[in-house]
Parts: sequence; C-alpha cells; structure tokens
Amino acid sequence: MLDILFPKVCPSCGEVPLGREEICRICLEEIRFINNWEFCAKCGVPFGYYNSQEQGEDFDIVPQKADNLCGKCVKGTYSFDKARSIAIYEGTIRDMIISFKYEGKIGYAEALLDIITANFPDDLDEFDCVVPVPLHLDKLRLREYNQSVILAGGIAKRLGVMCDLFGLRKTRDTIPQIGIRDESERRRNVKGAFSAAEDGRFKDRSVLLVDDVFTTGSTSDECSKMLLKSGAYKVQVLTLTRARAM
Ligand SMILES: [Zn+2]
Ligand SMILES: [Zn+2]
Repeated sequence: MLDILFPKVCPSCGEVPLGREEICRICLEEIRFINNWEFCAKCGVPFGYYNSQEQGEDFDIVPQKADNLCGKCVKGTYSFDKARSIAIYEGTIRDMIISFKYEGKIGYAEALLDIITANFPDDLDEFDCVVPVPLHLDKLRLREYNQSVILAGGIAKRLGVMCDLFGLRKTRDTIPQIGIRDESERRRNVKGAFSAAEDGRFKDRSVLLVDDVFTTGSTSDECSKMLLKSGAYKVQVLTLTRARAM
C-alpha cells in the first residue's frame, strides 16, 4: 500500500521501476563492473582506467607488466595483500552511494549488497572476519550511521563470516579524502588516524576490510597497516566501487 502511495523511485534516474527492485533495470545495466576488465593482481585497479580522459570512455586494456601488477604495486606501495572493487564509481552506483551515505537512504543497503554478492570477486582468499573502515565518532554523530559498517555487516551475514565492528577505530577526525587531490596529501591526512585493537583478536587472522570507495588506497592501506600490526597475518580489501584518482 505504501508503495502505491509513495512509489520508490530509482535513485539514479528518478523513474519508478517496474518491478520491486530499488534500482531500475536500465540504470543497473549501466553499471560498469570491474571484473569485465583486466586489472592489477594486487590493488585491483583496472588497467588504463587512470589514463582514460573522460568518464564514459572505455578503458585501454593494457596490462603494464607481464606479472599483471600496476606501477604502484611494482613499487610495493600497499601493505594489504589484495584489493578488489565491484564497480567503477560513476553514474548509478555513485548516485546510490551518495544517497546512502549522506542523504539517509539507508534502504539502499540491500540493493547495494545484492550488487556486491552477485559480483563477489572470485579471487579473494579465505578470510576469518570482516572489518569495516570506521568513521570518527564526531562524523558518526552527524550522520548517525557508517555506510561501511552496514556494508561489512551485510557481507559477513550473507557469507556466514564473523564481522568485527569495533576492532578498528578512527582515533582522529580527518578531512574527507574526496576533497584532496594530491596522493601524498591523502596519505598524510589519514596517517595515524586509525588504531586496531591490541587485545589479540586479530592474531593469526585473515581480515577482509570493507569500504564503499577506493580511490588512491591511502585509507585502506593505513587501516591494513594497523590490522597487520595488531597481529593479522593477511588483510584483503573489498570496496563496492573504485573511483578515479584525480
Ligand atoms: Zn533508473
Ligand atoms: Zn596495483
């Protein structure tokens, strides 16, 4: 009844979907899934993505090295074992994430989780627990919920794995990474901003770190360092989307 009075509109185009889906079929078809491209074996960046001039243009599928690592991973930039993302941060999925994150559209969580589980990367190694990238308490008070907690919790529940919501904490508030262009600035911004529980809970554990967007990987890397420091033997990263580094 409520659906008839207040029909759900597609978060991307504003049309009323035909079925019961949150997101209309046309917009769903526009989502660009990363597993359709060749990507770096370690950080998961689709090859050619950073070089493409405009959004909407297809990527050049050119692995930069025979071992399928991007230039950054050849240099050993990241402390995590592997990072994977489901889709490119653009269009439909970007609209949904923005609404989910900043406009209180918590109802989009299920639709986003459906997208994640239907396209779950098949080359992630086994993990013992799922850990969300935390928000600082001040931000949590403002937004009332952490989108990464909801995604991590949903993934854990669907996969039947433990989710540790409090193992990683954000101890210092930071400027949103999205507003910082320079990569070394981004690294500085998050350096020392997280801490992982030192009570042994991560000892000899393989952790899946979950977030909504991966851009330069500075946040994922900083969180991974803390988890490894507190005893995890492996950290893999899963983000719903991958944004172009500016
Ligand atoms: Zn739509
Ligand atoms: Zn890489």
